[in-house]
Amino acid sequence: MSKDQRLRGYYDEQLETLPWDEKKRILENQLQRAVMTAFQEAPAMREKLQEAGVGPTDIRSFEDLQTISITPKAQMRQLQQASPPFGGFLGVEPDKLRRIYSSPGAIFDPEGHQADYWRLQGVFFNTGFRPGDRVLNTFSYHLTPGGLMCDEALSGIGCTVVPGGVGNTETQVQLMAELQLTGYVGVPSFLQAIIERAEQDGKDFRKDFHLEIAVTAGEMLTDLSRRRLEEDYGILVRQFLATADVGAIGYECGQKNGMHFADFRVVEVVDPETGKQLGAGQVGEVVVTLLENPVYPLIRFGTGDLSYYEEEPCPCGRTSPRLMKLLGRVDQVTKVRGMFIHPSQVQEVIAAFPEIQAAQAVVEREQDTDRLTFRVVLGSSPEGLASNLQEKIRSVLKLRADVAFISEGDIKEPDKLILDLRKWD
Ligand SMILES: [Zn+2]
Repeated sequence: MSKDQRLRGYYDEQLETLPWDEKKRILENQLQRAVMTAFQEAPAMREKLQEAGVGPTDIRSFEDLQTISITPKAQMRQLQQASPPFGGFLGVEPDKLRRIYSSPGAIFDPEGHQADYWRLQGVFFNTGFRPGDRVLNTFSYHLTPGGLMCDEALSGIGCTVVPGGVGNTETQVQLMAELQLTGYVGVPSFLQAIIERAEQDGKDFRKDFHLEIAVTAGEMLTDLSRRRLEEDYGILVRQFLATADVGAIGYECGQKNGMHFADFRVVEVVDPETGKQLGAGQVGEVVVTLLENPVYPLIRFGTGDLSYYEEEPCPCGRTSPRLMKLLGRVDQVTKVRGMFIHPSQVQEVIAAFPEIQAAQAVVEREQDTDRLTFRVVLGSSPEGLASNLQEKIRSVLKLRADVAFISEGDIKEPDKLILDLRKWD
């Protein structure tokens, strides 16, 4: 099948192409129902709403959501232990669940009986899978929902699934070749590993295999890795964002210019400190509210992922805004003189200077002022580097910083790109 055929059409044309203002109204109606369900059926959510001083009918718009505090994924384990097994967030009796998963961090994730529970069918259609595809699904089928959530969504849109699961590279190569599989779902690095193994075994991946499409999630898909898969191997590569808690969050369309917000959710990008919604282009935490999901009526679930969105129209015709790059995790964010800085920005600065071997942004506090220093380890030390570096830091971080050249042994906690040494007591 040609790439064009894969990227033509919509899973739900009417819903996906509805002008955003109109679509927002539909989502806000769904939101009102979700808040009502949460208030009536999920004790933990009811408490949160009451804390915020809102009744079941007070949340009428996306903006209204800001009064409700965020439930961070990082707290879920604790909340569930305090009120087992689901922390009071479940909207139905536990015996109405289809499956219960246990995700990393020992968080229990419920799954209800309704069709397309995780809302991934649209995600897989819109990223390019079509009925008749034979898909190797390499997400884990064990404890976490990844494997099964993809499996059911793929079969739901008419694909045949080979439940490969994690690891066993050699077996996966064999499956891919002998079953003439056309699709792959999993992390991008594992697909690379499969291809490498096939080539080590003397196979010509382009000729001997039939892989046409790979849809990835779960780790950063770098431009380089996508280009390699697309150009060297002729595979259509798209990515999506989902979590074990809320299922689908976003997906790439044919345009490859960010991930459209998935349907049946409210996706917000918020200031990690205040929980207030941020505008287009501003980096913050991705927060999700589930709609039309009476099983798990989560209002403002903090995924911990950092991103920003854009809302100018997409040539594909879909109207929902798009999450752009994932920029790391919210617990890696540091605020310096009122500006958030995150590891990917530090990375961006460093990447512009090949002569830098290693670096770390160190935040200190002197006389009530934040001091930011880039401690840099050099391979060689060309002239003018310090001022070029400062200029780059200003353009990426919007902050003035000192630059200190040090030797490698002097980097403290080398696994951290940002080291916050401020003390607040
Ligand atoms: Zn699009």
